[in-house]
Amino acid sequence: MGWFSKKEYDGYSRYPLWKKGGLCDVCNKPLDNETAYVVPCKDFWESTLYCERTIQRRYFEAKTNPVLADISDEDLRQFAISSYREQASKDKTPSAVCKDCIYMFE
Ligand SMILES: [Zn+2]
Repeated sequence: MGWFSKKEYDGYSRYPLWKKGGLCDVCNKPLDNETAYVVPCKDFWESTLYCERTIQRRYFEAKTNPVLADISDEDLRQFAISSYREQASKDKTPSAVCKDCIYMFE
């Protein structure tokens, strides 16, 4: 027996169940009464689906920000990609992902 409690699985996802509440790291839904899973840091940031979706969203946010109106599309896209990579390189903890979002990491 180790110091950590045994991981529990529900058979729906290959990841163990998340029991700590909080918010989904993908959609920000509160997880108190929701099924959620623990996704290791590496799997989280290396998910192609999550990566594309997040970069697309950041690009769109930057594009619709009047402060950035003079910046070229290509620069805005590069900004979205580099901000994603920077965040990925700093994150060392697993993420909580709800049942609706877990498909991006399977
Ligand atoms: Zn979610």
